[in-house]
Parts: sequence; structure tokens; C-alpha cells
Amino acid sequence: MERTFAKTISRAKSSAVREILKLTQNSKVLSFAGGLPAEDSFPAEAIREAYERVFARGAGALQYGLTEGVLALREWLTEFLRAKGVETSPDKLLVTTGSQQAIDLAFRVMIDPGDYVLVERPTYLAALQALSLADGRVAEVDSDAEGMLPDDLEAKLREFRPKIVYVTPTFSNPGGKLWSDERRRALAELARRYGALVIEDDPYGDIRFDPNLRVTTLYETDAALGGEGNALYLGSFSKTVAPALRTGFAAGPEDVIRMMEKAKQASDLHSSGVDQLALYELVTQWDLAGHIRSISAMYRERMERLTAHMTGAPWELLRWNRPQGGMFLWATLPESWVAVDLLKLAVEEGAAFVPGEPFYAGEPARNTLRINFTHTPPALVPEGLERLARAIQRYAQG
Ligand code: PMP
Repeated sequence: MERTFAKTISRAKSSAVREILKLTQNSKVLSFAGGLPAEDSFPAEAIREAYERVFARGAGALQYGLTEGVLALREWLTEFLRAKGVETSPDKLLVTTGSQQAIDLAFRVMIDPGDYVLVERPTYLAALQALSLADGRVAEVDSDAEGMLPDDLEAKLREFRPKIVYVTPTFSNPGGKLWSDERRRALAELARRYGALVIEDDPYGDIRFDPNLRVTTLYETDAALGGEGNALYLGSFSKTVAPALRTGFAAGPEDVIRMMEKAKQASDLHSSGVDQLALYELVTQWDLAGHIRSISAMYRERMERLTAHMTGAPWELLRWNRPQGGMFLWATLPESWVAVDLLKLAVEEGAAFVPGEPFYAGEPARNTLRINFTHTPPALVPEGLERLARAIQRYAQG
């Protein structure tokens, strides 16, 4: 039978990049493509003990719960966020199934078909997918290493009158970029002036390589302007604890949170109570801050090891940023190169990365690529990079 699916989902094509990356699932390929944290960073034993304590509470832990999330966890989150300068309260917090669900819910409650969202160039691919399912439209704002360019941001705010500006200002995926305070301020001010909600997606903010680096969240920057808040802050424990817990959250204006709660009710009633309680047990009885320091140090070392090998020929053909945190390095090939074609050669050589193309909502910069430095075991990195180097050499020789 010929089925007719909704236009929003039918439009979502399987991309050429995804097809190539499927080939890398073969275990012989050393992949820098995935966006995965290091498995040896997961506190598996502490998590096991946390679940045991939850089950020791008896059957009550297995009952339906509140859509907004376990109250004790929201109370703890309020304190956790205060330390980051995100002032909120349990009733302005929604626990979500990963921060991905928070992105999806925020778009669904704000966007009517055809409404615009402004994003960075490049931006997080799965946010573009969520927006497409909400039947929204997207416009890219020109960005450099410090964030969105304020002139272009204002021009696009004026032209598209977007409902939302979605950004990942702290160690972005894919750019590995850290916005400057000035650009944060410019965005907070302009978004208020033009009536667009700011969504600050911050799953990587805790993973900073210099523990003394102080980052002022966009949420805090917005709050400092006074009056009613205009920023929705999204966080996650996927990178700092383990992604399988699927626990994230949104903090922000109460009207937005209440609407997201309504949409969440229709979507999944609530996130897993057992997982929320286990996370609560974990973070209250174990040293989360110490764990975050140790994985940040581990990822810093992995990033440094990787970049230490990316010198000399043929690496001098590439330019890349030196991330100050997060999980990704963003590289630029010579102007006329096409990263998708380089990937084909890389896969032949037994290595992989993600070409930049799918991260662009508009005309892509085809000569860009993303390298993940957290997941490949350090002992395999030199071999993986040698394979990539061979692919680059082959491409250069045409
Ligand atoms: N936002 C960004 C920028 C991400 O990179 C990711 C994970 N790939 C997410 C949100 C979603 O993460 P999770 O749902 O696991 O919290």
C-alpha cells in the first residue's frame, strides 16, 4: 500500500554523508566522526550503586510521576545552576529526555509553520532536523570565531522577524567555538529589541580545559539586562555523566516552560522516573564536580595529543581552531576542496570524520570538517591520523 506520510517527515532526506558514515560502522575504520563521549569516562560503578539505592526505595520509585520532573532533582538543579550564574527555581525548570527533547519541545511550542529561527553558521544538525519537523524556517547568521556578527544578526532579525535565535555559545557542535562576552551581550540585547526568544543550548559548557576559565552564560547576560528574562537555557548530563541516562533540562521564562510542559505531556508524559531518581542519588552522594574536572582534563589531553600529531605535511594544508573545551575540533581544507570527497578517500584508507556540509542550513562551506577527539582510544589516534594524512595526500595529488 502506498502510504502518504506527513510532509514534514517526508522532507527529511537521508543524507549522502550519513550513507558514507554507515560504512564506518565496520570495526576496522578508525572513526573521528561520532559525537560520542569516552566510555572509560562513564562512572559505571557509581551509577550502578545509584540505581540500587533507587530500587531499595521500593515500588514507589516505579510509579508515574510529574511531567515537569522529579521535584528533588529540580531543587538540586536550581542550586547546581546557581553556581553557573543561571538563577532559576524548581517551577521554572523542566526535566527532559536529553536536551534534544528540550530543543524539540521549544520549537514545537514557539513555531507555527513558516516561522523563522536564526542559527549560527554552522550549527547543530539535530536542531535543524527538529526545526524542520516543526515546519519552521531557518536563516543563518554569519559567524566568526567569537560568535554571531552583530551587524548580520540585526539585519537578519529585521528581515526575518524570527521567533527564536538558537545558539550553542560555549564549545559548540560542530565548531568547538567559545563566544566572547561582547557577542553574548549583543545577542541578548538585539534579541530583546526584536522580540525573539534566545535559546542557549549548553551541553558542553562544563567541559572546559582551563578550570579557571569563567564563562558567563547567555542566560546570565540576558538576566543582567533586567526585567523579564528572555533566554531559555538547555543543559544535559549526557556529556558529564552518561548519555544513556537521557536526562537533560530546560530553565527559562515560566510561560515558555509551562507550554513546553504541556507539549511534553502529549509527547511522553514524563521522562523516566527511575533515571531521574538515579541521577539525583548520583549527584547528591558522589563528587560530580570532581568527575567533571577529571573528564575535562582527560579530554584536554586527548585534544592535545591529537593536535600534536597534526603538524607537518600534509596537515599544513588544513586550518583548525584549538578548542578550549567540548568534544570537537573544526577544520578547514583549502578553498576548492570538498570534504565529502575527502571522506570517501579516508574511508578507503580506514578512517572517518564528518564533513561540515550537513551543519549548514544554507549554502554549505564544502571545505570544512568536524573531528571528534573524545572517543577514539588515545593509542589508536596516531594510526587514525596517519590514515587521514594518506587520504589528504591522495586528494592533494588529485
Ligand atoms: N545539543 C547539542 C549541541 C548536542 O551536540 C547534543 C548531543 N549531540 C545535544 C544537544 C543533545 O544531547 P542530549 O539529548 O544527549 O542531552
